[in-house]
Amino acid sequence: MTSPRQTVTILGSTGSIGVNTLDVISRHPDRYEVFALTAATQVEALLAQCQAFSPRYAVMASADHAGQLSARVKEMGLPVQVLAGAQALCDVSADPSVQVVMAAIVGAAGLAPTLAAARAGKKLLLANKEALVVGGGLFMDAVRDGGGTLLPIDSEHSAIFQCLPEDARHWPSRLDHILLTSSGGPFRETPLSALPGITPNQACAHPNFVMGRKISVDSATMMNKALEVIEARWLFDLPPEKIKVLIHPQQIIHSMVQFKDTSVLAQLGTPDMRVPIAYGLSWPERMESGAQPLDFSSLVSMTFMDPQRERYPGLYLSWDALLAPEGTTTVLNAANEVAVAAFLEQRLRFDQIHAVNHATLTAVLPSKPHSLDELMAIDAEARAMAEAQVHRLRA
Ligand code: NAD
Ligand code: MG
Repeated sequence: MTSPRQTVTILGSTGSIGVNTLDVISRHPDRYEVFALTAATQVEALLAQCQAFSPRYAVMASADHAGQLSARVKEMGLPVQVLAGAQALCDVSADPSVQVVMAAIVGAAGLAPTLAAARAGKKLLLANKEALVVGGGLFMDAVRDGGGTLLPIDSEHSAIFQCLPEDARHWPSRLDHILLTSSGGPFRETPLSALPGITPNQACAHPNFVMGRKISVDSATMMNKALEVIEARWLFDLPPEKIKVLIHPQQIIHSMVQFKDTSVLAQLGTPDMRVPIAYGLSWPERMESGAQPLDFSSLVSMTFMDPQRERYPGLYLSWDALLAPEGTTTVLNAANEVAVAAFLEQRLRFDQIHAVNHATLTAVLPSKPHSLDELMAIDAEARAMAEAQVHRLRA
């Protein structure tokens, strides 16, 4: 007897992770069906996805975009119900008919629907690392209370998850530390004196991946790795000193675990996000992902180096933030979202992203949040402070 197909909601289906998720799903029509697709503003892209995957719902962030999509859906006679707004995102995540939710909205905007999926006990595939950086302990409590399964999609965390014993109860007694690997971004060898002149387009040209613009800038500053350090702290329940970062430009090793006896396990493969996506979808099984296998005989070399503090000062903010009261990582994330947006709008220089993050962390000193409302208040205060820092630096 064939098992029924799993129903999937994809939050952020028009983004880089969303498109890769649909690519993997399209290879396994016998296993998955799409329940809902969502996007911020990309009406035509969501329309094309509705045509190809026939979801029950399509959600757009604003009523205006939903209206446009609704008109196009009617024109084409598609049996898709179009919804709008933040509550609709939560509804299609928590709907009793949904089994799997891919959280691939970028930034803190993804927190509420991702939390809704966690509370509803879904199998939650987490690409939206900002949700965990912002939500921290509250987010993990929601996953525990909901009784669902949280699976990392970020390639480093998927790699670590694949190297760890299946039974999480054995992790603390066996593991010594984890090593998150990083490409070092496109400016690994750029003279430090040239960093202030980096343009948004240069920062978004990542050497090994096509990604969204926000995460591309974060990769260039290594703030992406800073967020991943915080993400790892929560996913694997690790103290900050047990999380290390190593630059590995070829991105063949996707991260490693060192055990108590010094033995190291690594997960290797070509850098292709469809691998961690397929693993999350099929876990604990494995299925075809569409990625090219590694060709070891043509691998020239694998190199490693420590991240220099002068080049990547933002990376080091993560350990500081983890040692401070819990809402501090919410402040760091909010500051960074504001700074990156200002850089992409050419209101801030590349090297000033760190200046904004550092100044905001110094100015906003939260105490541990106990609810989503308290979290959002910290987030709002940090955003306002970060905007003020952007203005101060421009003046
Ligand atoms: P992206 O910018 O390509 O796509 C983001 C998606 O979110 C789009 O569908 C967009 O329409 C939607 N969105 C944006 N703002 C929204 C809002 N306010 N409300 C509702 N929807 C909104 O981003 P991406 O590269 O796919 O990254 C998505 C997430 O996955 C990020 O958190 C990123 O850090 C993480 N991630 C990405 C990669 C990668 O290779 N791209 C790897 C690891 C983790
Ligand atoms: Mg990653």
